[in-house]
Amino acid sequence: MSASDLTVYWNEETLKHRPPAGAFSYPHTSVLADAEKHPDRRERIENIKRMIEVAFGERASFEAVDPAPRPSLERVHDPEYLEWLEEFFADGTGRIEDTSTGGNEHTFRAARYAANAAIRAARGARSRDGVHYALCRPSGHHAQSDRADGFCFLNNVAIAAADALASDVDRVAIVDWDVHHGNGTQEIFYDREDVLVVSLHNDHGSWHPEYHPQEGSLEEDGVGAGEGYTVNVPVPLGTGDAGYAHVFERVVEPIVRAHDPDLLLASAGQDAGVSDPLARNLVTRGGFETIAARFRELAAEIAGGRFALIQEGGYQPSHLAFATLGVLEGALDTPVELEDAGRSDPFVRYDENLGLVEEWTDRAVEHHATHWPIE
Ligand SMILES: [Zn+2]
Repeated sequence: MSASDLTVYWNEETLKHRPPAGAFSYPHTSVLADAEKHPDRRERIENIKRMIEVAFGERASFEAVDPAPRPSLERVHDPEYLEWLEEFFADGTGRIEDTSTGGNEHTFRAARYAANAAIRAARGARSRDGVHYALCRPSGHHAQSDRADGFCFLNNVAIAAADALASDVDRVAIVDWDVHHGNGTQEIFYDREDVLVVSLHNDHGSWHPEYHPQEGSLEEDGVGAGEGYTVNVPVPLGTGDAGYAHVFERVVEPIVRAHDPDLLLASAGQDAGVSDPLARNLVTRGGFETIAARFRELAAEIAGGRFALIQEGGYQPSHLAFATLGVLEGALDTPVELEDAGRSDPFVRYDENLGLVEEWTDRAVEHHATHWPIE
């Protein structure tokens, strides 16, 4: 590795974003002596950053980005929504209606930094070698064109894809391995054939009639010119390393190959990890290494090696750092021996049920085979 082998795009200011306490439908109340902290905490990002520094040292470089300019955001989001969002947080802390999504006076600016981190990572992927990773906070993939949800305000990966399409890129593939459905990304590109959106997720369905109506089902597969270009792959609770490798081999890789993109973007949320509080999957550091290695190899095979990683969720702040290390080890093809932990994942406890994953994958293959050469 050399100094430029891993470039991390971020801005320290994003740490100032702070959602109100309370998680999901459970607000901050006096029922608990220790109030439930919001899952999107700054420690997530601080731990990832520290892990990168420890694991890769001077071989990784951090680039502080500017806030994304308004025209870049407007490629994806309604101008009226952007104005509303800026105004909503101008005065300080709050939740949006009855959602679990909120922030403080720093949130809108943090979201603009995160969006530009994604843009810069995707541009880096097109202009020079090495791994380009956007350390985004807040995340983006639940943000639709005109509404915030799921701790997301601006859809970072979609903004990066739109920026690429506005320059020299004709086709993009987004692979979303965050354990939750990338409903915002789906909504934004639902009628388009130039952006393939593949999402692997637990089958959580809609979680708000207004702010998150999408289900993430097989049947939600695009409309009009975009028919077939949304590929949802629900995976059962407990899906682990072998399960994800199975889904990549049977569904993700053949469909992305057939789309033949010029650029691959990963919505890299590591909340499919073994101890995440917001999901129930069992992927380990080694499993994430395999996922990212397969993604890198796919990009090398069909897109001249052009890929970028855009950070999404992951909510057990310690495991997230190990899981993200796995992603970067796979993306860089560089295994790391950590002091004490070596190549292991200190959080591993349970085995997965691969048989169930294979059954669900058969159903996904049967559905998506109407649009794509898979069997
Ligand atoms: Zn997630």
